[in-house]
Amino acid sequence: EYYDCEMIPVSYADENRVLLILRNITKEKQLEAIRREFVSDVSHELRTPLTSIHGYAETLLNHDLNDTETVQRFLSIIEKESARMTRLINDLLDVEKLESGDAQFNIEDIELSEVGEYVLRIVGPLARELDVEVKEDFEKGVFIEGDFDRLVQLMLNLADNAIKYTSIKEHGPKEVWLRIYALANYAFIEIEDTGIGIPEESRKRIFERFFRVDKARSRKMGGTGLGLAIVRFIADKLNGKVELESEYGSGTTFRVKFPLKKVIR
Ligand code: ADP
Repeated sequence: EYYDCEMIPVSYADENRVLLILRNITKEKQLEAIRREFVSDVSHELRTPLTSIHGYAETLLNHDLNDTETVQRFLSIIEKESARMTRLINDLLDVEKLESGDAQFNIEDIELSEVGEYVLRIVGPLARELDVEVKEDFEKGVFIEGDFDRLVQLMLNLADNAIKYTSIKEHGPKEVWLRIYALANYAFIEIEDTGIGIPEESRKRIFERFFRVDKARSRKMGGTGLGLAIVRFIADKLNGKVELESEYGSGTTFRVKFPLKKVIR
């Protein structure tokens, strides 16, 4: 516990006394610590790609430019790292907007299979590139109250992770299932993968900003460490709840549960 102390001199029955006012500032201190940690995390996250961009650019300047193969390789790293910085900054701005409540949500009745089809089209090329098979099972006519673009963002972040963290598994099938269904009074978006899984002790922290099981690996895969924080914010805003099941080494399922608006069959 932290206290702030103020001393006020008072006269009392002809004696000089002081009045001490103690104010509990534990909460402020905690917020301040969180803010400081965030600024330090952000600086670190931005410095990592910058250091790499700077290093490769410097090497190129002193390199024989006729060695086109090396030049190509270095330029492609510079391109990838600067793209990751852009993603990081966009994600940061998004997190800020979502946290401060400034994010605009355009609420309307959304048929979830439309979100699913949209996401499927976007992740197709990545899945092919990383040699992961993506399968779908979308129940038609399942509606929730939501914002189309935000729901795409939520499902895309989950599908993107599922594909990435499945592609790096050494053995076994490389499959990702995207599912949409209604059950009782709820609608579900479910992403199941056969990837590397999430160790038990990390499961609670996985939604924190910049928390990763393996920082170096996440960065190498192009991750910003903000994807799941954004997923949880969006789910919260839409009265949804994110559930996680994972078996370390054999796969993970993320399930987002929303209040069902209606089912039209
Ligand atoms: P990142 O950009 O690092 O992927 P996220 O916030 O999306 O950031 O995810 C945080 C961390 O959670 C990842 O770095 C990874 O360690 C773990 N993770 C997320 N999704 C999966 C998954 N489907 N399988 C295994 N690990 C995952």
